[in-house]
Amino acid sequence: MRVNAYAAPAAGQPLAPTTIQRRDVGPNDVLIEIQYAGICHSDIHTVNGDWGPQPFPVVPGHEIVGVVTEVGSEVTGHQAGDRVGVGCMVNSCGACANCRNGDEQYCLKGMVGTYASEDRDGATTQGGYSTHVVVDAHFVLSIPDGIDPVAAAPLLCAGITTYSPLRRWGAGPGKKVAIVGLGGLGHMGVKLAHALGAEVTVLSQSLKKQEDGLRLGADHYYATSDTDTFEQLAGAFDLIVNTVSAPIDVDAYLGLLAVDGTLVNVGAPPEPLSLNVFSLISARRSYAGSMIGGISETQVMLDFCAEHHLGADVEVISADQINEAYERVLASDVRYRFVIDTATLV
Ligand code: NAP
Ligand code: ZN
Repeated sequence: MRVNAYAAPAAGQPLAPTTIQRRDVGPNDVLIEIQYAGICHSDIHTVNGDWGPQPFPVVPGHEIVGVVTEVGSEVTGHQAGDRVGVGCMVNSCGACANCRNGDEQYCLKGMVGTYASEDRDGATTQGGYSTHVVVDAHFVLSIPDGIDPVAAAPLLCAGITTYSPLRRWGAGPGKKVAIVGLGGLGHMGVKLAHALGAEVTVLSQSLKKQEDGLRLGADHYYATSDTDTFEQLAGAFDLIVNTVSAPIDVDAYLGLLAVDGTLVNVGAPPEPLSLNVFSLISARRSYAGSMIGGISETQVMLDFCAEHHLGADVEVISADQINEAYERVLASDVRYRFVIDTATLV
């Protein structure tokens, strides 16, 4: 099946309309008619070549929501007409210790990314900036009725990427959590940490988005451009989730952790970050990383969001606005996720 899509032809080149081939629906596959695709900063890192060479042309998009139009003969969990989602991965070996443990994203043979990855049949995957996609049923999530589909799309990456570390490191009542960077991931981090019952602080470059941050569920809001912030908040947090797409001063943020506190990096700048070990030693602190979340955990997150009436704050765009949206994300001018209406992919 040939379908309309938007692709980056080469590193750093503007995206343009194209068509791509989707495979036939195999026995374990689900064919999805895509309705919405979120724009993640990872799409921009990828097509700009920040993370190294890519198999261009690349159709990005790993925050996909749509409706099932066909299922393979062996598929039992989804049927035509179901509202479903696909996130950052579309396959994994299914047999290694990590896959069996529900951590498909850490598959020992390498998870297959939704785009710019080599699938297990050797084909290069192409993502959600397209009208249809065929995905192995195990990697297809159910979107609960209670969530607006357009607001659900960003949950498939921004939602799970913040939910997973918040849960793992115990965000909840009595815990002080800081979210660094109020972009796509950050705004979901604030909503989710608040819904989990934590006391939430936003650490943003400026106070420009303070009103939004408080509305999204933050209890406190500080500007990181103000050096007083780092003195005032020294030793204050149990958990800090860093969503910044650029390098940060790791030592400065570690200094904001209480004894036994953890700084989790989900932001993925290409440059190496350095730290002074005394920032860790001096208060038994940890510095960690986390990548999206497993498939069953992603379903738990979607159900949690439905129960708590959470979705992303989105700005819906047409396909011809993708390049402009990329510029705005790079300028930290996103409130708080651009989502492509894929009906405009003509
Ligand atoms: P985004 O919407 O662009 O948000 C990033 C935010 O970081 C910006 O809104 C801005 O917030 C802050 N920021 C940007 N540049 C900065 C700078 N030079 N110094 C300080 N702060 C800066 O991006 P996103 O889609 O949320 O993604 C964020 C990062 O997470 C990207 O690197 C992405 O690749 C990565 N990511 C990782 C995973 C994972 O599994 N670990 C999953 C998805 C994305 P303020 O304006 O509030 O300061
Ligand atoms: Zn993403």
